[in-house]
Amino acid sequence: MTDCLFCRIVAGEIPATVVYETDAVLAFRDIRPKAGVHVLVIPKQHFDSVVELGADPAAAGALIAAVGEVARAEGVVEPGFRTIFNTGPDSGMEVPHVHAHILGGGPLGAMVAG
Ligand code: AMP
Repeated sequence: MTDCLFCRIVAGEIPATVVYETDAVLAFRDIRPKAGVHVLVIPKQHFDSVVELGADPAAAGALIAAVGEVARAEGVVEPGFRTIFNTGPDSGMEVPHVHAHILGGGPLGAMVAG
């Protein structure tokens, strides 16, 4: 059994509120939302970070396509939304399985603190 949290969500071993799914990607609501809309979009295949994902253009394209689909479905395309890929300790990355945060549902403020 893998100890990767998001691989375990993909496998159905840990529950999640799934909002979008294809053969290649899964999107689910963040368990500790930081905005009115906070969805995580992940490739089902494990990549440690966006750096590794970038070496697989098909998987990267599928993920970005899914970001657009989820943003449309959540109704945030027109008012606007933010997409974040955290990578490594300086970013505060908690789960080392690449994921795009989709944040929206109201003004988001400054891109970074300070
Ligand atoms: P990051 O800091 O970029 O690695 O983001 C990881 C995100 O995963 C955080 O926003 C967490 O709230 C979220 N998270 C952690 N565990 C779960 C879970 N079981 N289901 C949904 N989201 C989760």
